[in-house]
Amino acid sequence: MSHVFHRQCNQKLPAAVKGDGVYLIDQSGKRYLDASGGAAVSCLGHSHAGVREALHQQIDALAYAHSGFFTTETAEALGEKLTSLAPGDLNYAYFVSGGSEAVEAALKLARQYFVEKGEPQRQRFIARRQSYHGNTLGALAVGGNEWRRAQFAPLLIDVAHIAPCYAYRDQREDETSFEYGQRVANELEQQLLDEGPDTVIAFIAEPVVGATAGVLPAVDGYFKRIREICDKYGVLLILDEVMCGMGRTGTLFAHEYDGITADIVTIAKGLGAGYQPIGAMLTTEEIYQAVSSGTGFFQHGHTYMAHATAMAGSLAVLNAFENEQLVARVGTEGELLQASLKERLVDHPFVGDVRGRGFFQGIEFVADRATKAPLPVKTQFHARLKRSAMENGLMCYPMAGTIDGQAGHHVLLAPPFILSRSERDELVDKLVASINHVSEEVYK
Ligand code: PLP
Repeated sequence: MSHVFHRQCNQKLPAAVKGDGVYLIDQSGKRYLDASGGAAVSCLGHSHAGVREALHQQIDALAYAHSGFFTTETAEALGEKLTSLAPGDLNYAYFVSGGSEAVEAALKLARQYFVEKGEPQRQRFIARRQSYHGNTLGALAVGGNEWRRAQFAPLLIDVAHIAPCYAYRDQREDETSFEYGQRVANELEQQLLDEGPDTVIAFIAEPVVGATAGVLPAVDGYFKRIREICDKYGVLLILDEVMCGMGRTGTLFAHEYDGITADIVTIAKGLGAGYQPIGAMLTTEEIYQAVSSGTGFFQHGHTYMAHATAMAGSLAVLNAFENEQLVARVGTEGELLQASLKERLVDHPFVGDVRGRGFFQGIEFVADRATKAPLPVKTQFHARLKRSAMENGLMCYPMAGTIDGQAGHHVLLAPPFILSRSERDELVDKLVASINHVSEEVYK
């Protein structure tokens, strides 16, 4: 019997014992192609020599020093590198241990900014349905996934949720995708007017939605309109790039594609590539200066923030991106991955949509392609697909969200940036075989 409290009780899991490039190897020697990088984490695969070397060097020199007493050379170097690469004037990096911590820091900093500015009446956040921002109570409150929130609802701050930009489901036949994007972005303006714009702190969104909607890039022009609305009412724009950031979509920051800048950006996952737990919140000169010239300290913090070993690992990850020119590779190889998925799945009766950007691709499953009716919850399509893929030596990330109260089943693919073409073919073959197997099982 296991004494580890796994996230799913009474589940027998294989033990991962080794990593080899894009593969994970279990205790029996079975190899699993990591098609989702865990949850869009392992962007360099599982045995990157440069990152391992950097971690060893840092641990040999110094593993950890409390960030309230010391900075480290690696934290300074990572801060400088990240802020120099980030769009706009995101000049400061606040380092934490993961995505939810980064989101909590973002929400609190946004609030503190307005308190420092003498606008304490700004107390509300606006977010989107079909979004995920983490599992701690603040992050869960802004998240828009009903089943994750349900039992904790009485504990959550009250947040308004507007529609996501979900062209596959919501774009009307009589409008272009640009018009659709403007229409749905304008919901933010309406919500702000309903709330009273000077009571709102920030709007938070994922530039490309990840876990709750099986990868959902916004249509062109949507985020430009969102930025305009935020500026018009003096509301901050927080972009959560915990999953879609760090090169995953073919640009280092996903919102580079949208041609906008943010006031606060959260990153994690790919930042450490899984070699160490790490997250970060990046913010602008203006917000930093408001705190710096006000109370002088950000009223927040965690024991492991700016952990020296995590800093060294992330620095090596960013160096690998540059030295191996991986982010540009993600753009071109991602298009080929999507083309291959579409070619193999476009006629599948349960495949409604194949979409994504770079090495961040999603497939949405439906019961009926014409009506787009979601697969019923009771099919447990996602759980079956996970099981079947694992049996076939493939780790992918299937999940069930909710669409109009019904389950929407998706699978998310986020392979390591080093995925070769033959590994890509293996990924697609194994995924298609698993989808076919589960489809037969569900409707036999
Ligand atoms: N934000 C987004 C967009 C995420 O996808 C996630 C995790 O999947 C989080 C925040 C939370 O990150 P973590 O699981 O590291 O706390």
